[in-house]
Amino acid sequence: NHSAVALGGFQDFCLRTELLNAIRENGFEHPSEVQHQALPTAILGTDILAQAKSGMGKTAVFVFALLEQLEKVADDQKPHVQAVIVVHARELAYQIEHEIKRFNRYLPHCTTAVFFGGIPEDEDIKRIKKETPAIVVGTPGRLSSLIQRKALDLSRVKHFVVDEFDRCLEDAKMRRDVQNVFVKTPQQKQVLMFSATMTDELKTVALKFMVNPTMVSVDRHAKLTLHGLAQYFVNLTEGQKLRRLCDVLDVVDFNQCIIFVSSVERSEALNKQLQAMKFPSSAMHSRMEQTERLRIYESCKKNETRIVVSTDLFGRGVDIDRINLVVQFDMASDPDSYLHRVGRAGRFGTKGVTIAFLTEEEKEIKRENRKYTDTGIMKEVQERFEMQVKELTDLKEQLDQ
Ligand code: ADP
Ligand code: MG
Repeated sequence: NHSAVALGGFQDFCLRTELLNAIRENGFEHPSEVQHQALPTAILGTDILAQAKSGMGKTAVFVFALLEQLEKVADDQKPHVQAVIVVHARELAYQIEHEIKRFNRYLPHCTTAVFFGGIPEDEDIKRIKKETPAIVVGTPGRLSSLIQRKALDLSRVKHFVVDEFDRCLEDAKMRRDVQNVFVKTPQQKQVLMFSATMTDELKTVALKFMVNPTMVSVDRHAKLTLHGLAQYFVNLTEGQKLRRLCDVLDVVDFNQCIIFVSSVERSEALNKQLQAMKFPSSAMHSRMEQTERLRIYESCKKNETRIVVSTDLFGRGVDIDRINLVVQFDMASDPDSYLHRVGRAGRFGTKGVTIAFLTEEEKEIKRENRKYTDTGIMKEVQERFEMQVKELTDLKEQLDQ
């Protein structure tokens, strides 16, 4: 796909020199398609609902749009929050804060801070008092709580961003928190929302937050193919999974690997088993201490942790560019979640392998009153996204390159 090359460079967007220089220094040469479609409109303050497949640089769209638009506060005025970015997961919030810091180096007034649960709230409150950030990144729960405690003043916000918006709006509690934050911002503002997937229902919900939005959809729902990814499935029984996983880890020449499981308990258990077999692995799930979660996230980013056994916590948004193997030890329970999970490999068009383990038994999600089978989900994935997922019959033959 050479369309990006033909489309020219970032300099065509008439961005601030300070921003352009940072973009160049960070090695971004050619805008991706979603950046090309959304950025010119976004920097004009228009509301945007954007859908584009995983790993194509949606983050940069809103980060650049904010860095381009945020105003310097006059010397005699107090600094105030000008933009809020809401995301569903703590690590993603942290990652976005870092992405902003990569690009704000010549724009010192575009300060940023991140707030999420699992860390003492009083520390957040002190931090805001000491140095009010221009851009606040956070999870809905913590932001909503900081507002309630009157620590966070959003009355002068001009930009409201929701990343992975379908995830943020589908869960009732999270949606309420997003709304709590939203109503504390002025009516007149820019709203930007992003995801790789969206249902019609959640799209309708999202649009209620916006005024005359521009819809950006880089790939229609059926065409979310991730070109760099070789996708496989394996039919097996529960009892065969561990053995097969070890074979995969031995045969595939991976840089970093993420293994998805269906519960916190299974993440702990599988991680222990892998460690016992001397695989360099770590667990990642919501019941871990927040400091531990961040430590592991950091060590993944630095390529020190090579294998992560995660629940869906790391299923979305997380960008670790060396991940080139995704194993769904427990298959995703719906097609969208499959798509987000495999999207952790093959970031920005790099190559990757994904393998889904499929068992025959029927599973149930009580909370949603829904039954499914792995193979049923796999079938839906292939139909809805027109994806080619091949059966893995001979590990060595197919994967040993
Ligand atoms: P998405 O949110 O669409 O899944 P991300 O915003 O996480 O994707 O971006 C994926 C990776 O691609 C990141 O590491 C990011 O730094 C990189 N990236 C984004 N845009 C560009 C670009 N124009 N040129 C080079 N790398 C880019
Ligand atoms: Mg993203």
